[in-house]
Amino acid sequence: AQQLMIRSEKLSVAGELAAGIAHEIRNPVTTIKGFLQLIKSGSTEKKMYYEIMSAEIGRIELILSELLVLAKPQATHFERKKIKSIIKDVVTLLSAQANMYNVVMETELMQKEIWIECEENHIKQVFINILKNAFEAMPHGGKVLIQSRIARNHIIIRFIDQGSGIPKHILANLGQPFYTTKEKGTGLGFMISKKLIENHGGCISLFSEEKKGTTVEISLPLMKTFT
Ligand code: ADP
Ligand code: MG
Repeated sequence: AQQLMIRSEKLSVAGELAAGIAHEIRNPVTTIKGFLQLIKSGSTEKKMYYEIMSAEIGRIELILSELLVLAKPQATHFERKKIKSIIKDVVTLLSAQANMYNVVMETELMQKEIWIECEENHIKQVFINILKNAFEAMPHGGKVLIQSRIARNHIIIRFIDQGSGIPKHILANLGQPFYTTKEKGTGLGFMISKKLIENHGGCISLFSEEKKGTTVEISLPLMKTFT
């Protein structure tokens, strides 16, 4: 029954997304086609056309790579994993990037190792999406605090940044595909994170104060043997 639920959830996600994806990918493709036409007609400004086309292809690649995580139904494979190890792996993975943004990642994790039933790559992807948003919200650097604790039969993981915060009107739109305030954003990270966490029976909430920062809280069910 669990498997079936996940499958139907995925199909409805695909349905919701199809129109938006087609639209988002059509724009860069139209641009590329236009510039190919210009090159064919013998213009001398080929280098510039080349730059523009590369940038548009890069954008298609980025959108596709973000969507791919939802597009592989066979990849949903739940296993017993240590949540603290997953958090530490992601921190290591992103340490070079954090450094580029002058951001320090700090962890305050519970002492006990806790196991959850999860698709490890999906959970890692969620943590990466959230941390990247935190870095991007702190252009002048700062700290991201990652906390975890047990509450009843759930584990709570918090990502607390000192960034720009999220105005109310933007907060209201979060979770809609392709909603972004960034010039080079895709507006997919949060929506995908939400779907992946919900596939795990968890939930994700946001607390934000403008100019102070944002806290993203994830709650995931513990394995039955621990409850
Ligand atoms: P993207 O990062 O590509 O814009 P996301 O879905 O990851 O797409 O995020 C959507 C929007 O939510 C961002 O453009 C930004 O406005 C806002 N946002 C998300 N996380 C944060 C954060 N930690 N601090 C400030 N704004 C955020
Ligand atoms: Mg993002």
